[in-house]
Amino acid sequence: MTDKKSDKETEVNGEVCLKCGSPLGEVFETKSGKKLQRCSKGSWNSETHTIDGCTYVKWLAVEPITLDEKCPKCGAPLLSVVTRFGKKMKKCSTATWDPATKTAGGCDYIEWIKGTTEQLDEDCPKCGSKLVLFTTAAGKKLKKCSTATWDYETKTAGGCDYVEWLRSEK
Ligand SMILES: [Zn+2]
Ligand SMILES: [Zn+2]
Ligand SMILES: [Zn+2]
Repeated sequence: MTDKKSDKETEVNGEVCLKCGSPLGEVFETKSGKKLQRCSKGSWNSETHTIDGCTYVKWLAVEPITLDEKCPKCGAPLLSVVTRFGKKMKKCSTATWDPATKTAGGCDYIEWIKGTTEQLDEDCPKCGSKLVLFTTAAGKKLKKCSTATWDYETKTAGGCDYVEWLRSEK
């Protein structure tokens, strides 16, 4: 007779802190639209700008938004998703993820939302080509050389490497 417990399905309803085991607190939303939960034993001290008590923070997945666009692969509606690193992408609404088997199902269409480029009437201080103004998906701006290239296969940058980050004004 064995009496070892085989029920690994310990349900995680009220989620607990991985550091101290206390229940997690309220869900917060950051300015960039990301969501997080702090440990109920931790609190933000606005005077010292540190966390008093437990420092555990759990980042939550941001709810996907259904878009008015169709998947080019299967025709299902696309979703707009923000990753926990603040990157934006579109993916097919039929895509599924099975956490038990760690396999993706459904349609695998993904489109990363990249920034926009604008032609500038400025010359690159390095090579004299025109500069472009690049706005990232997160809204940051930088000037870079129009001859700069990125090879997705080899993951290497080519062309001129001049980059100037712009500070967001005021
Ligand atoms: Zn904790
Ligand atoms: Zn699809
Ligand atoms: Zn250049």
